[in-house]
Amino acid sequence: MLIGGIEAGGTKMICAVGDENGNIMDRVSFPTRQPKETFEDMIGYFRKWEIKALGIGCFGPLDLDKRSKTYGYITKTPKAGWEYCNIVGTFKEAFGIPVGFDTDVNGAVLGEVTWGAAKGLDSAIYITVGTGVGVGVYLNGGLLHGLVHPEAGHILLSRHPADPYEGKCPFHKNCMEGLAAGPAIEARWGKKGVELTDRDEVWELEAYYIAQAIMDYILVYSPQKIILWGGVMHQEKLFPMVREEVKRLLNGYVSHEAILDSIEDYIVSPALGEDPGIKGAIRLGVLA
Ligand code: ADP
Ligand code: ZN
Repeated sequence: MLIGGIEAGGTKMICAVGDENGNIMDRVSFPTRQPKETFEDMIGYFRKWEIKALGIGCFGPLDLDKRSKTYGYITKTPKAGWEYCNIVGTFKEAFGIPVGFDTDVNGAVLGEVTWGAAKGLDSAIYITVGTGVGVGVYLNGGLLHGLVHPEAGHILLSRHPADPYEGKCPFHKNCMEGLAAGPAIEARWGKKGVELTDRDEVWELEAYYIAQAIMDYILVYSPQKIILWGGVMHQEKLFPMVREEVKRLLNGYVSHEAILDSIEDYIVSPALGEDPGIKGAIRLGVLA
């Protein structure tokens, strides 16, 4: 059975066709422009296949409440032209098939729980540290929604005593995204992360902030696996630094062997490489 998947991002729309086992047969990427022309490209692509369901992992914020009149909409996004855009309705109308819908990061954690690093577990989180910080949460065998959906990239962090940078988030300044996302690194140090590879102090501070956030996620969600990725984590030396810092900050408080004895298997990169988002979108389609 063919299932469509869309990883809908602010800069590009990855569309793929796969099966219910997560095998991808074909994929394409379209630049994200205004909704009308972007949807025309995507609908044209999926018309070439006999898809039976479609899943969409989307940049947010989103309305995921099935009782709401605006279910399936992107809501109050700053992305010009996309505010209150009915993305689910557009594809339902075009294809008349079930459409699954969730945040991009919830899609990614679902992909990893189904086929990747958290396969078979009841709980996991997926953290992306890139242009922003997003956190997908899978708990008790399902994706976490609530009043809206988790926005755990915006938890407030304590600034390091030696960090003079106040934080970049326009809403909260020193939240996780404001202190640790790629644009915050660039604003603090005056260069992009990729040009700061040899500056140890950059990555020590970065690990300190990522670890603070992870400590809070461990305390609040108690995930069985933490999957960490995004452009900034291409500095792979951050992984051991973050793990050590998480242990130091927790200070023995959560005394589980996964943290105390084998944290290298607890805080990991995705097993699906660059594909957790698109494979998770296909899984959202399977579950729709
Ligand atoms: P997005 O979050 O937009 O989906 P990415 O996950 O690729 O995209 O994240 C982009 C951010 O990651 C940018 O701020 C960029 O500077 C940063 N970044 C990309 N590669 C690296 C790298 N090798 N080292 C440090 N930062 C990087
Ligand atoms: Zn914020």
